Amino acid sequence: MIVFVVNCGSSSIKYQLFDMTDESVLARGLLERVGQSGSVLHHRSNETTHEIEVDAPNHTVGLKIILDTLVDPKIGVLKNIEEIEGVGHRVVHGGEQIRESTLIDENVIKVIKDNASLAPLHNPPNLAGIEAAMSALSNVPQVAVFDTAFLATLPPRAYRYAVPRQWYEKYRVRRYGFHGTSHRYVTLRAAEILGKSVEEVNLITAHLGNGCSMTAVAGGKAIDHSMGLTPLEGLVMGTRSGDIDPAVIFYMARTAGMSLDEIDTTLNKKSGLLGLSGVSNDMRDCVEAAKKGNTDAALAMEVFSYRVAKYIGAYFAILPGCDAIIMTGGIGENSLPIRLRICQLLSNIGVIPDEKRNEEAIRKVGLITADDSKIPVWIIPTNEELMIARDTRDVVKQMAVK
Ligand code: AMP
Repeated sequence: MIVFVVNCGSSSIKYQLFDMTDESVLARGLLERVGQSGSVLHHRSNETTHEIEVDAPNHTVGLKIILDTLVDPKIGVLKNIEEIEGVGHRVVHGGEQIRESTLIDENVIKVIKDNASLAPLHNPPNLAGIEAAMSALSNVPQVAVFDTAFLATLPPRAYRYAVPRQWYEKYRVRRYGFHGTSHRYVTLRAAEILGKSVEEVNLITAHLGNGCSMTAVAGGKAIDHSMGLTPLEGLVMGTRSGDIDPAVIFYMARTAGMSLDEIDTTLNKKSGLLGLSGVSNDMRDCVEAAKKGNTDAALAMEVFSYRVAKYIGAYFAILPGCDAIIMTGGIGENSLPIRLRICQLLSNIGVIPDEKRNEEAIRKVGLITADDSKIPVWIIPTNEELMIARDTRDVVKQMAVK
């Protein structure tokens, strides 16, 4: 079965084409600057990357360009677009209504629209991608895979905030969580690696990329998560602050005269590693600057690692046991000093890092702790696109059975 995976941002379309007989990637790419001048398609197939200047005034035209490229006689990989048997869409927010990957129908589209106010930067472009794919591939089943779905199992004590009940009932103010597809993928992989069924695995999964989040997983199900109503809560991120005292917002409005929009932009786009270091939102740049003696960059690394360790400690306390800590995402898969530092900060709960193993596990599965570490720490590269492709295949197969 050939499955086409689409991830639409406000000005971009990321895609991968899978042959699900062996889960191989036939083509992948990124169309940038959708709706702007100078759109560029980066298309990779047959181990070659092609950069093509195109005119993509909107997602519908952009998707048509990508589909035409997939059947292009020179750089394409399909003879006919009808070879595609399922389209999987990454959708950020399914709210409380959607708990698993779902065939897209009018009701699912309504849910995506209803939750747009909770994910204004993501749900509208996700929907634009769905509508574009539905018109270009009208006979092909379209499946929505929601970032929030894996976190739908959080119990009320984890997802409710201690604010007036009406805020939840009327305005749906609660913890939803994000990166669920990544946390689910590494949970399934971890169960395989640990030789357990997913129903019996207890884990702490840390997705550490430009955005960072952590999930406590008990018996294969999410029971707590660090992101909240929005992806701003929790860990320190590239440009997001993560946890702060909410009173900082009123204080900065009243004392520094900042508007709500300015504070929103500052906490989402100018804080985190960038805000602390003054150097960059990229961990690589912070590590390099710290090596050269930049103390702000060194502090950014330390605050980042400390916050991760603190959350791990909290999740360790609430889980019924912890078979492993899993790190993934750009920083989790690559950054040796950060991984080492986090393990060092967890010595009180018996984590013992192994520096040699840490150096070996780069962008691949690997254990980075010593054999006598009380909790093993594993690196597991995430693969959200494959997870979306698998779900799409499964939903399409279930349709055939019905
Ligand atoms: P992601 O959002 O998962 O793509 O992760 C992006 C972040 O991963 C970047 O901002 C970097 O901070 C970090 N990263 C990527 N590659 C490396 C690397 N080789 N060493 C350290 N950090 C890295």
